[in-house]
Amino acid sequence: MTFIKNLLSYLKKFLHFQTSLPLSVQQSINKKPVYIPREKHILSRKNLSPAAVRVLYKLHKSGYKALLVGGGVRDSLLKCTPKDFDIVTNASPEQVRALFNRCRLIGRRFVLAHVYVNKEIIEVATFRASHKNNNNGIVQDGRIIRDNVYGKTVDEDALRRDFTVNSIYYDISNLSLLDYANGMEDLKNGVIRLIGDPSLRYQEDPVRMLRAIRFVAKLDFTMAPETAAPIKDLANLLKNIPAARLFEEVQKLFLTGHAVKSLQQMRKYNLFVQLFPLTDSCLHNSTAATLIEEVLANTDARQQNNESITAGFLFAALLWPPLSNLLPKEPVKGVNQQEVLFEAIEYLLKKQQKYVAIPKRIAVLMQDIWLLQLRLTRPRRGKKKSFKLLEHPRFRAGYDFLLLRVKAGDKEVASEAAWWTKFMNSNARTRNELFSQAISPTAKKGSQRRRTQPKDEE
Ligand code: ATP
Ligand code: MG
Repeated sequence: MTFIKNLLSYLKKFLHFQTSLPLSVQQSINKKPVYIPREKHILSRKNLSPAAVRVLYKLHKSGYKALLVGGGVRDSLLKCTPKDFDIVTNASPEQVRALFNRCRLIGRRFVLAHVYVNKEIIEVATFRASHKNNNNGIVQDGRIIRDNVYGKTVDEDALRRDFTVNSIYYDISNLSLLDYANGMEDLKNGVIRLIGDPSLRYQEDPVRMLRAIRFVAKLDFTMAPETAAPIKDLANLLKNIPAARLFEEVQKLFLTGHAVKSLQQMRKYNLFVQLFPLTDSCLHNSTAATLIEEVLANTDARQQNNESITAGFLFAALLWPPLSNLLPKEPVKGVNQQEVLFEAIEYLLKKQQKYVAIPKRIAVLMQDIWLLQLRLTRPRRGKKKSFKLLEHPRFRAGYDFLLLRVKAGDKEVASEAAWWTKFMNSNARTRNELFSQAISPTAKKGSQRRRTQPKDEE
């Protein structure tokens, strides 16, 4: 009996090992790092942020280990500009704070130090280690709730990292690279590969699924089959992630120059529906789908041209399809359209906030843009009101949003958008003339409605 039990347990372990740890991953963990001396790699201090170099040297000169890791190394090796620089050290967060005048410890789930150098923020994290036998980390149902188990060595830290290409370290003490998980090879082949057992690593932190597709989109890489395989089945684990953290991730997915590709990847792996279920259910409609593709493509283009990007505009577009589905197609007699819109906005945002927490300042802008849609497409366009609307602080955003709707195929507002374009591009005299002409078929309908309304109300 015991023999059979042991045999079964052995087989279970053996099969689990075989199915969930492909050879490439087995080889990638628990081995000594490949050491790449300075003369054998292209990463140069000159291409790093001077602030990051200063922080690295200060830690090093104070007797601590100091290494650059993550995007700072990965993107420099790919010859693109890193978004930020992440440093790891064996100094504890408190020791880091004691070393720098301008330093703040942030985070609860994952404590790290923000060191301010001029206008830059450099993130300094203490080496992480395994959670075994340590109560500074909390794991619940396989998910890491708190990840503040500190280690002493880079070796331990490397295994806690997510992808092989994010686990290459640049050691400031000798300017060498340490590659723990065949990251250089994956970097060369353009592959995103999780370190360790993919299912377990996604269960530990479901946000890694979003990170995986983000790096595929950002770097134009492909995902290793074993890294991609569990995502569709595990996508719903994102429901356990705090909505505020998911907002941060959505910003990284959609506001950093690869939004169109991010959406494609998110839809491919059933991740979009987890974050924007109300929008997802509208995507069968081609106008809705085009509106979202258009806004993401515009955002990417603006990013590439170094133009400002307004998160509120993007979110207003992402949620416009479900919002407009809540509104009556035609104004209802005796019903205040603005009130209906406010109610719909409140209902929609309350539902959406459960998934992705949109901060107040962004929600206020979204509301302004949506409200302007009503005001810009009023059936009867009064002269005084139109001139006043031009001075509205969000007029431009509202008008651009109207144009976006037209471009996406919303024919009902095309004539209104054309009128506003004419109005804005006219001089004072021709602007006045525009009011003496009939505006649009909707305008005529509207004015008739208006005329009959008081009678009905009597
Ligand atoms: P970018 O800054 O361009 O978004 P990055 O790889 O630097 O990419 P960060 O969020 O800055 O990403 O994180 C820095 C590093 O910390 C990552 O490269 C990775 O090694 C590690 N890391 C970040 N988030 C996780 C996570 N959820 N699980 C495991 N390791 C992570
Ligand atoms: Mg980074």
